[in-house]
Amino acid sequence: MNLLHKLEILADAAKYDASCASSGTEKRDSRGRKGGVGSTEGMGICHAYAPDGRCISLLKILLTNACIYDCAYCINRRSSNVRRARFTVDEVVKLTLGFYRRNCIEGLFLSSGIINNPDYTMEQVVGVARSLREVHGFRGYIHLKTIPDADPLLMAEAGKYADRLSINIELPTEPGLARLAPEKSTRDIKRSMARIRLRIDEAQAEKKAPRFAPAGQSTQVIVGADESSDLDIMRMSTNLYGAYGLRRVYYSAFSPIPDASAALPPRAAPLLREHRLYQADWLLRFYGFGVEELATNDAGNMRLDIDPKLAWALAHRALFPIDVNTAPKEMLFRIPGLGVKTAGRLLQVRRYRRLRLDDLARLRLPIAKLMPFVCTADHHPGATLDASHVRAKAMQFELI
Ligand code: SF4
Repeated sequence: MNLLHKLEILADAAKYDASCASSGTEKRDSRGRKGGVGSTEGMGICHAYAPDGRCISLLKILLTNACIYDCAYCINRRSSNVRRARFTVDEVVKLTLGFYRRNCIEGLFLSSGIINNPDYTMEQVVGVARSLREVHGFRGYIHLKTIPDADPLLMAEAGKYADRLSINIELPTEPGLARLAPEKSTRDIKRSMARIRLRIDEAQAEKKAPRFAPAGQSTQVIVGADESSDLDIMRMSTNLYGAYGLRRVYYSAFSPIPDASAALPPRAAPLLREHRLYQADWLLRFYGFGVEELATNDAGNMRLDIDPKLAWALAHRALFPIDVNTAPKEMLFRIPGLGVKTAGRLLQVRRYRRLRLDDLARLRLPIAKLMPFVCTADHHPGATLDASHVRAKAMQFELI
């Protein structure tokens, strides 16, 4: 099989992994080393969005799609009837450098099926990163998918070369993972996350410590492959952010795969559910919302027709309109259409004068969207929110 043919198979097989956005890394020459090729900054075959909104491109491939595990939801599982391919370490290095020099990518996202055992696979993955960094002086971005059961020493080496490490938690609950991926264990996954966090914290605390995954760690969870509710998923994410310091939890809506196991749902999960979870994730991390506030229906799920912030506002109509001249910051964060940054700017401006609609317009805020929810010095929408009107507007503009 030639290299191009392998690339076709192994780039396609990697598309199911959502956890490949780069963010928050530092320059590879920030500790004084000069020379080499590449940079972790700027633009670059897979487009991903970092939390700061920056669009980056990575060569996103698997080392192999032949896996000895049999996770029911995975197209690369042992029992799957797909074409298999495997790169050598040198082939991945050659491809990465080739694409980089042609300015097609900014870095590499490398994952792999389990080849003989977790340690052997991890050695191969680390071998790619080591060769890129030490032999070729590659300074671009590297994101390595790590294998929870691999030797901690290999994990430590991976962190030395990678900007970001990730371990997929896969499913929101332990019983769900045990049912659909019996060779994996939530406990092992979390233990590896804890080890990575420890090393990241040590590297950050001590200036002279060797660098370790400066862009942190991330994970991916599959949404809709089991019965987990949005509440289960948000609780899991909150725990991962808090206990393991994850930079991002990525949500990937389940889509049926060929020759799927009967344990899986026959239909794809709605992409809108994935989208709502991303919105909720943001609200939980930056807007002060609690998990229980967002999962609004009896089954612990969010509404799909409107975004979670608007759903919360409509469920708490008595709190609106909110006076932007007097409300505390925490309440400004609750106004649909007002973001954290713009709320901060309102707080600054109102120190000097009472805010009017013109001031909101000058700050380029979406006036038509905000009007039902706010009072200004010259605007008082009345005490009752017209829910159907607000909802219609929201459907038009997709507020958050
Ligand atoms: S270990 Fe990874 S590649 Fe292998 S079957 Fe499970 S999810 Fe797929």
